[in-house]
Amino acid sequence: MAGKYLYELDFIYFFYGLAFISLGTLCFVVARSRPAGAPTVRMIGLFGIVHGVAEWIAMTTLLTGAAAEFSTLRSALMVASFMLLTEAARRGAIRFKHRAPGRWIYVVGVIVLAAVAYTAGFTTAEVLARYSFGLVGALGTSATMFAGRNDYDRAIRPIKIGVAASFAVYGISTAIVPAAPFWPANVVNEAWFANLTGVPIQLIRGATAVILSLMASVAWGSLLIQSVDSRLYSTYLKRLALGALATLLIILTVGWNLTGFIGDVFREKIEREANAEADVLTGRIARETSTLDAMVQVLAGQPLVADTLRDATVANTGRLQAILDLNVHASGASLAAIFDSTGNVLGSTEPRQLEPLAVPNRQSEPWFVGAMRNGKGHSLDIDSTGARSYITASAVRSASGAVIGVAMMESSLESLAAHLRAFDHLFFVIDSRGVVLLSNRRAELQRTLWPRPDLPPQSLGEQFGAPARPAIFAHEVKGGEWSTIDGRPGYVVREAIGTTGWSLVLSIPSTDIFAGRLLGLVITTQIAIGMLVYFMGRERSVRDRFLRLRRVQLHHRARKLAQKASTDALTGVPNRLRFDERLQEEVARSERTGAPFSLVLLDIDRFKSINDVYGHPRGDQVLVQLAHTLKANVRQTDLLARWGGEEFVVLLIDTELAGAAEVAEKLRVLIAHTPFEQVGSVTSSFGAAEFHPGDSPSGILARADQALYRAKVHGRNRVEVDVGAATSIALAPDMAQNGPLVGDNRKASARR
Ligand code: GH3
Ligand code: MG
Ligand code: MG
Repeated sequence: MAGKYLYELDFIYFFYGLAFISLGTLCFVVARSRPAGAPTVRMIGLFGIVHGVAEWIAMTTLLTGAAAEFSTLRSALMVASFMLLTEAARRGAIRFKHRAPGRWIYVVGVIVLAAVAYTAGFTTAEVLARYSFGLVGALGTSATMFAGRNDYDRAIRPIKIGVAASFAVYGISTAIVPAAPFWPANVVNEAWFANLTGVPIQLIRGATAVILSLMASVAWGSLLIQSVDSRLYSTYLKRLALGALATLLIILTVGWNLTGFIGDVFREKIEREANAEADVLTGRIARETSTLDAMVQVLAGQPLVADTLRDATVANTGRLQAILDLNVHASGASLAAIFDSTGNVLGSTEPRQLEPLAVPNRQSEPWFVGAMRNGKGHSLDIDSTGARSYITASAVRSASGAVIGVAMMESSLESLAAHLRAFDHLFFVIDSRGVVLLSNRRAELQRTLWPRPDLPPQSLGEQFGAPARPAIFAHEVKGGEWSTIDGRPGYVVREAIGTTGWSLVLSIPSTDIFAGRLLGLVITTQIAIGMLVYFMGRERSVRDRFLRLRRVQLHHRARKLAQKASTDALTGVPNRLRFDERLQEEVARSERTGAPFSLVLLDIDRFKSINDVYGHPRGDQVLVQLAHTLKANVRQTDLLARWGGEEFVVLLIDTELAGAAEVAEKLRVLIAHTPFEQVGSVTSSFGAAEFHPGDSPSGILARADQALYRAKVHGRNRVEVDVGAATSIALAPDMAQNGPLVGDNRKASARR
């Protein structure tokens, strides 16, 4: 593993997983709004979610150590996700009418992989799954995406090509497998890749996942843009997406650094803790040994000891025995003895040691050799029951300074060992060769901690009668360093134990670092999710606003169109279409309720001559002014409409003929007195009719028209009412120049 990333792997796994889960979620969103090809997309989505969860479990494995349950679950989910990817590819193949194997391949796959896992282990099974379902599924999905690049929607064609390329890259990176003992996994594997490039393959897979989920987001965005179909919205969405991406990058960068910082805090804490614990342990062991070292030195310096070595009289030997017993009692040691320079016992607290047959010569013992050569020596003894004791020796010198014998004391280490066993972090006491003398892990005794070519495991095995085992560390631990113990990362520290020449090696797993880093991950994710929710909420509210605005605009436009269709373009009053509708309604209403209503038709007198004299545009202005005048003088509930040409009609609700005639007369007088720009005074003729039950719309119109006709005939600028209703209705004589009265028989030309 590239060391630089060893402690970033959790972050990589975490966001690798997150990227896959968001890819999965986005696939489901996209599949929802795009039914075509949805089964494939949904299958990719399922792959993303399952695979993401598997990555999270991989991260948990980092946190908790290689717990077997987690590894199994992770492998199972990983294989399941690869099968889902294969299924996506299979459905794609079917969609594009290629031959594809049936679903039985999964049954066969599961059986084969389970058998491999059972016989050759999970790693081998995972490697096989990666080569089969992983590689094939990813490349197949890539091919499906590429084949469907021109389908349905050209706008997301580049995305489909991008997704196809990403899945191809993902497929290849999936086939860079954990090392396994067969070709090509024994050559082309994760370690090979890390050595070659300096980055873990997980980083490449993670980057692919991130790119894939970015592309899924773009696809989703383009679907949204299509659904809203507004330039403004699409600009807004693009800007929002860029903003979200930039914010996300900032959050992740800060999060990465925060996580690193928290990890460093814990790392330093672990280093401090390891050093402090090593100090305590070495101090404790050194105290135990140095007391005995001092005692044996005092013993060796006693004149009686040298005397006895020179002259082993019975008297001397007896006094020596007394001194030895005293020493043992005072120090709590288990044994004290004096040897001559050839290794033969001269005196001992253990009486058996005096019987020459029972005592092998000690001159090859390391402590004896040390004392003879350097003045002092020591060793750790483990007896057949596994009980450990410390043996220390000091040279006995003659007056001239020559070494004439060795004083030795032995003390049981069992109470120290019991004390040390309670220690929760793994430690080893090793001699200068790296051979474990003492440890709170019994199985590690009498082996080297790191490879010693001069001390192969076999020779140690022979020496101690223990089975040969490989070394724990890859190389000699000198001071403090980060390493792996049993595959789990941790901190290892080595400290010398007093002057014994031995050292203590202590290790603390880095679980705390990961636990601390998890805090960084959780904070980062929380902020990232909060940010995404905020951006999605904004997008949602803006999209809603756009859609609402769109509805209002459509409504408005529809109303405008309807109005346009029912309004006279020149005068702005309702046109004949609108009038006809209203007339029909009024006829129906009147038939039902019996409420009366009337019509007043009016036609400008001699309008042709106005056109002729003042020109058509001026005539138009007269029409506009007249319409305004009329409109301002009829009730809101009445309907004024342009009937055509220079003819207008007024529909008067709840009005009987007499009322209608009055209104007509009022309007007639009004028009006659209204000065028209340039044209001066203009007059109109009026015809009024009341609705009779059973009348049709055209019936009442015809009667009003007849009345108007009569008004024209009778001299213009006058009101005539429908004769069918009443013969005549008296009206006030007009003050205008023509001053026609009802029944006036002035000569007039025909209206039409
Ligand atoms: P009368 O008193 O008999 O009604 O005489 P008149 O000249 O008004 O005759 P009539 O009603 O038959 O003629 C209508 C004239 O109105 C014909 C046409 O030139 C003119 N006219 C119709 N529509 C418009 C219009 O939209 N603008 C203008 N400027 N003139 C119009
Ligand atoms: Mg006319
Ligand atoms: Mg006219």
